[in-house]
Amino acid sequence: MRGNVLTLLGIPLDVNSSYLRGSAGAPPKIREALRSDASNQWTELGVDLGAANAFADAGDLKLANSLEKVSDDFAEIERAVGAILEKGARPLFLGGDHSITYPILKGFARHYAELTIIHFDAHPDLYEELEGSRVSHACPFARIMEERLAKRLVQVGIRTMNGHQRRQVERFGVEVIEMSALPAHDRLKIGGPIYVSFDMDVLDPAFAPGISHREPGGMSVREAIAHLHAINGTMVGADVVEYNPEQDVAGMTAIVAAKIVKEILGKMIREASQARDFCGAKGAPLRAARPGSSTRKKRARSE
Ligand code: MN
Ligand code: MN
Repeated sequence: MRGNVLTLLGIPLDVNSSYLRGSAGAPPKIREALRSDASNQWTELGVDLGAANAFADAGDLKLANSLEKVSDDFAEIERAVGAILEKGARPLFLGGDHSITYPILKGFARHYAELTIIHFDAHPDLYEELEGSRVSHACPFARIMEERLAKRLVQVGIRTMNGHQRRQVERFGVEVIEMSALPAHDRLKIGGPIYVSFDMDVLDPAFAPGISHREPGGMSVREAIAHLHAINGTMVGADVVEYNPEQDVAGMTAIVAAKIVKEILGKMIREASQARDFCGAKGAPLRAARPGSSTRKKRARSE
């Protein structure tokens, strides 16, 4: 159904990481955790991701993942994003490091003029350049704002702001909700088309140690889910980036990344399918029926 198909796409690129490589190995690990028998396939919003055609999986992009070929890989990412949006689908990308969000947004800008990005991260990723690179994973949102690929950028969970990046915030008009200001559910009621970029290091390393830049004092998994659920608007795309399996402990962070993916997918499916009651298709109630509600009355009559 046009506009309603969710598509998972892995982007195994970690060559723009400034400190540790490893996030290129994330997509298969997140998929494995997503399909693990350790849990069922229902999201907290009552969506069954195990239902037939709940979402599509386009596999992983084939990338060189070498410094010499970064511009080729970025072009391939932008092309793949365009191909998915062309079909009217809503993509969820599995990173990779955060540099991928720049070519992803280039693809999105051709389809959405009024996009708001909600960016979960410990870091603002607004560096003009880092260690001589303008496409470092510390820079994507500087490029995105410079090229006006989004109308608004709202950052959540930031706790590493420095002088340079604060000047970038002022220059680009970024709306920053620092970690110390949370909870901030109401500030995420934005409306319009929304792109969510979720850097796993927004979470406290106690919850998600499998990342490249551990920054204490972050969100609990529950706080992250509550803020994701609080978003009001139409989620037209998302990425979950910076999971680094090489830094993980017993696959704990893969499970957390999969949980975040599940809750984003569930929210996107709910929004895309409200009209056709996708979630209740198998007859399961979305939430407990209130006394006196029509569901309860119908059941009472048939008993
Ligand atoms: Mn980041
Ligand atoms: Mn980060």
